[in-house]
Amino acid sequence: MFLLDTRPLKNSPGLTEKYTWDEEIPVGDVNTGSVVFSGPVMVDVDITNLNGNFVLQGKVKARVLLKCDRCLEEYLFPVETEISEIYRLISEAPVADELDNEDITGFRGDYINIAPELVKSVFLALPMKTICNSECRGLCSTCGNNLNQAKCDCAAINIDPRLAVLKNLLKN
Ligand SMILES: [Zn+2]
Ligand SMILES: [Zn+2]
Repeated sequence: MFLLDTRPLKNSPGLTEKYTWDEEIPVGDVNTGSVVFSGPVMVDVDITNLNGNFVLQGKVKARVLLKCDRCLEEYLFPVETEISEIYRLISEAPVADELDNEDITGFRGDYINIAPELVKSVFLALPMKTICNSECRGLCSTCGNNLNQAKCDCAAINIDPRLAVLKNLLKN
């Protein structure tokens, strides 16, 4: 669990603590949305108590399974990104404007579960366009064959339909 114990910091304004994790995102405990993690996530953060605001900053390393836009095959994408978040302890029954600043994430009790923000930072580091390899040939638009794995004759036929007719004639 990516639970951060705030007890050493709570009564020590100005204090910074270091936390590290190297573990899998607990399945079912955290909504990972469209992000598919492969293996453990490495987290290395500093957290500072700044007048009751817990300022978290650090690095996140993970491997994510993506689907190639061209060939539709899955591939592993290494993510190395930053996490930066401000948490504030909120009372059991928060006052309406207690968290009016939306840059601040509330937490209750002694522990902060950083998993949701972790997933968010990884999600934001993913590429808009997913290509398994810059050399990826993609799928044949005619027969759907994965051109990285095998050739098909469609390309030749598409270039010149008359050639295709010829080819068929030659076959017979
Ligand atoms: Zn591909
Ligand atoms: Zn084809």
